[in-house]
Amino acid sequence: MTPRNLSDRHRRVLPRWVTTYYDQPLQPVSASGRTVTDVHGVAHLDFFAGILTNTLGYGIPEFRRALDRQLDSGIVHTSTLYLIDAQVRLAERLAEQSGIDDAVVFFVNSGTEANDTALLAATCHTGSNHVIALTDSYHGRSLTSSAVSGLPGWRPSPYSPFDVTFASNGRTSPDGDEHPPRDPVADLEARLAGKAPPAALIVEPVQGLGGFHTPPTGLLQRYARIAARHGAVLICDEVQTAWGRTGRAWWGHQLHHLAPDVITFAKGTANGLPLGGVIARRDVLDSIPGRSISTFGGNPLACSAALATLDHLLDHDLQGNAEKAGQHLLGELQRLESAHAHLTGSRGQGLMLAVDVVDPRTGLPDPAAARVLVEACRTHGLLIGSGGRHGNSLRIAPPLTVTEGEIAAAARILAVAAQHGVTAAATA
Ligand code: PLP
Repeated sequence: MTPRNLSDRHRRVLPRWVTTYYDQPLQPVSASGRTVTDVHGVAHLDFFAGILTNTLGYGIPEFRRALDRQLDSGIVHTSTLYLIDAQVRLAERLAEQSGIDDAVVFFVNSGTEANDTALLAATCHTGSNHVIALTDSYHGRSLTSSAVSGLPGWRPSPYSPFDVTFASNGRTSPDGDEHPPRDPVADLEARLAGKAPPAALIVEPVQGLGGFHTPPTGLLQRYARIAARHGAVLICDEVQTAWGRTGRAWWGHQLHHLAPDVITFAKGTANGLPLGGVIARRDVLDSIPGRSISTFGGNPLACSAALATLDHLLDHDLQGNAEKAGQHLLGELQRLESAHAHLTGSRGQGLMLAVDVVDPRTGLPDPAAARVLVEACRTHGLLIGSGGRHGNSLRIAPPLTVTEGEIAAAARILAVAAQHGVTAAATA
C-alpha cells in the first residue's frame, strides 16, 4: 500500500542519506520576506535561508520581475552552444569583482560542480593530483569534492582521485582529534615532505558545514605561501561566504587577505535558482585540454536571477546590513551563552553565526541537546541549522535582508529554546 503521508513517501522514494530536519519534517508551501509558512499554515522566521541560499529572502518584487522578463521571452534554456546575453553580462561582472587578473568564468549548477571544475583545472595546470585541504572542511558530494572534504562523515567513499594532505583548521588535528598541532604551519610542512608538489590548496574562508569556524588570523595566508612556493593553485571555496554574507567583506577570502587563483561560488548567487561557477585566472582554467560543457550551466533564467540578486545586494548595501545585523545577533548569542552553561563558543562573521551545545557537566559536544534546541526553535517559530564536526553547532544564517525586529524576535525564541536544551541536558 502506498503511504499517504509526504514524509513517508519521501523516505520510500529517496535514498536513506537524504535526511530532513525535525521529528515531523517541515513542508514549506509559501513564503514572504524572511517568513516561511508550512502546509499547516504555521509561519516561521527563516534564519537558515535554505542553507544560506535565499540571500534576499522571499517574494522580492525586483527579483521576480527579472525572472518574469526572462520567462516572457519564452526562453528558459538554449545551451552554451549559443550566445547568452545574461551569461556574458554576469561573467563580466564577476570577473571584474573577483580582483583576479585576466579572469574567466565558467558556470555550472552547484557548489560541488564548481569545486570539481576548480580541482580539474588545478590538476591539468600542475600535472599533479596532490591536494592540500583543511580539517573540518566541506567542498561537495561528488567523488572529487568529497575526497578533499575534511569532515569524516561527509567523505563516504574510501576511494579518491587525489592524494590529499590535510592541514589543521586551527581547531582540530589532521589526525582526527580535537588537539590541533601547536604549530599548524610546521605540521603541514612536515606532512608535505617527500610528497609530490601539490596541485592545489583548497580553503573555505569561514568553514560552513564545519560549524562557521573562521581559521585563525594569518593561518590561511601562511598555508597559501607554502602552496605558492610549490606552484600550487589557491582555490577559495566561497560557496557560503560570497556576496557580503560575512559582513566585513564582499568575498570571504578578503577577511584573510588572500589572493586566490580560483574562486568557486554557488548557493546564494541566484537567490535560490541553481547556479554555481568558477572564476579563475585564464591560464589556470584554460589548461583543461580538449572541450568541455555544462548543458545547464549559465542558462538564461539562472543568470538573470543572479544579475537581479547582485543588483539588489549592492543597491541596498546588504553587505552593510549583514555586518550590522550580524553584530546585533552575535551580541544576542553571547548573552544567551553567558546565561546557559550548555552553550559555548558563540562566533561567526556577518550573518554566518554559530554557537555550540555541550554537556554542562563534561563540556563535551552534545548533539542530542543541539537537536532538541533546533526542534524547540521550530516549535516556537524559528528555523535554524545545525552542523559542526560533532553535529552540536547551531548555525544561524538568515537572508541578508533580515531586519532588527526579526533579529529581536529570533533572539526571544532562541532564549526560550535554550531552556529546552537545559532540560534535555539535565534529563540525559
Ligand atoms: N562548498 C561549500 C563550502 C558548501 O557549503 C557546499 C554545500 O553545502 C558545497 C561546496 C557543495 O555545494 P552543493 O551542495 O551546491 O553541491
